[in-house]
Amino acid sequence: MKDFINQIAPQLVKWRRDFHQYPELGFMEYVTTYKLGKELERLGFQIYIGEDAMEREARLGLPSETDLKEKENEAIKYGVEKEWLDSMHGGMTGVVATWDTGKPGDHTALRFDIDALPIQETNQEYHIPNQEAFTSTEMQVMHACGHDGHMTIGLGVASYISAHHEQLNGRFTLLFQPAEEGGRGARAMTAKGWLDDVDYFYSGHIGINDMPVGTISATVKGFLSSTKFNATFKGVSSHAGMKPEAGKNALLAAAAAATNLYTIPRHSDGVTRVNVGKLLAGSGRNIIPEDAHLEVETRGETKEIGAYMHEEAIRITKAAAMMHQVECKIENVGVTESIFCDESLIPRVQEACRESVFVKEVLPVARVSGSEDASFMINRVQEKGGKATYMLFGTKLNYPHHHPAFDFQEEVLPVAVEALTKVIGRGHGNVY
Ligand SMILES: [Zn+2]
Ligand SMILES: [Zn+2]
Repeated sequence: MKDFINQIAPQLVKWRRDFHQYPELGFMEYVTTYKLGKELERLGFQIYIGEDAMEREARLGLPSETDLKEKENEAIKYGVEKEWLDSMHGGMTGVVATWDTGKPGDHTALRFDIDALPIQETNQEYHIPNQEAFTSTEMQVMHACGHDGHMTIGLGVASYISAHHEQLNGRFTLLFQPAEEGGRGARAMTAKGWLDDVDYFYSGHIGINDMPVGTISATVKGFLSSTKFNATFKGVSSHAGMKPEAGKNALLAAAAAATNLYTIPRHSDGVTRVNVGKLLAGSGRNIIPEDAHLEVETRGETKEIGAYMHEEAIRITKAAAMMHQVECKIENVGVTESIFCDESLIPRVQEACRESVFVKEVLPVARVSGSEDASFMINRVQEKGGKATYMLFGTKLNYPHHHPAFDFQEEVLPVAVEALTKVIGRGHGNVY
């Protein structure tokens, strides 16, 4: 085991740096999916892409047709095979890889997210990707959350399964999921049924909390359910001096919605959040604004509180439109559910990681906030009677997630690979 991790460690760094240099936004991970798929095929996995991996209609918050087309053309230049592009056409990115040992045992699934963020990576010299020459080559796109690391860990785990399949039992499903940011992709893979007969499910994140490399957490507490929606207001424009009474002001409707969304009462059962992150409206000083666009998200500690926040937010947004006699179209662009990890997996992770070389400490639980769309997978597994958890893998973070100078210590990669392989191996009664 120790030898395996030591052997693969340099390859982990190579994979990570390659993914970091070529980041792709959600549902546009054409090149990333191709690279992952090719590698997984080489390792001997059965792979599924496009319609075979994901339910088309269950995706949320798709990029525009133009953006998708442009990205698909770029992928051709990169060398992605036509057959692959045909399968992924229109934002059907991501890959699912399965391995059946042919022996009775658990069905274990692991999820790794693969998308990047619309952030321009810093050009400051203190930033290690600049020093070591693996900065993002894409303008305004960056792996600023660590998903380049997650995919790498996924390939590390896949390499382990491939090399040790004779000593392993049961079945393995590895989900390389697109569009985690904004809560858009997991639902579509879940809808395909991948999680319906899973006994054990593991996912996780590097960083998030301030923990040193070598420290991991077996579970988390505190991920909130969330909904993300856009509201488009359509009014009537008119001359602001000559005929103001003929106009219907979309800007005022959006502004009324924005301020009143913050008046939703807190909920006595638990944590809530609401945020209006973007308001665009109007076209010029002397024109009654005809158009307005609002981007909103709500969060809640449980499904019920989340639903309460969402319903109230929709009601207020529509009421603001009605107040100003403008039309309002609401589009749901992202959603996550709350996560409750199975505490029975804590001793399993702790046991499995005993006598580890890279894993130094296993915390039973880490307190987190924010949201995660792995929630769909976790909840599905649990609904069907399986057990699921979301783990954290410690690394020092000089800058927070989603920051232009975000970076993590690459030493976390072997730690995570060791932890997950021990959990899916020894944790499930296998030998090495
Ligand atoms: Zn993120
Ligand atoms: Zn993330």
